[in-house]
Amino acid sequence: MQQPVPVQPQNAPCPKCGSASASKVSYTWWGGFLGPAMFHQVKCSQCGNSYNGKTGKSSTTAIIIYSVVIPLAIFFICLIFWAIFYAMQ
Ligand SMILES: [Zn+2]
Repeated sequence: MQQPVPVQPQNAPCPKCGSASASKVSYTWWGGFLGPAMFHQVKCSQCGNSYNGKTGKSSTTAIIIYSVVIPLAIFFICLIFWAIFYAMQ
């Protein structure tokens, strides 16, 4: 079995089990390729928990921010474009 390459020691220990051994995550279901890069996402090699490797906090907050702020930003950009389009008529 192939083990993920541990990223040490620059990442914070796992908030769930306290293990310092974690591997970088390059893709997540919630953030694609951009999300994990933005939030320093790592995955614990002991318990499989995903967390922020820089702060040592759970990724739940990052997931909420990412899945709320990004669609909201897209919505407002669309709204601005719609307003410009509407104003030009
Ligand atoms: Zn862990």
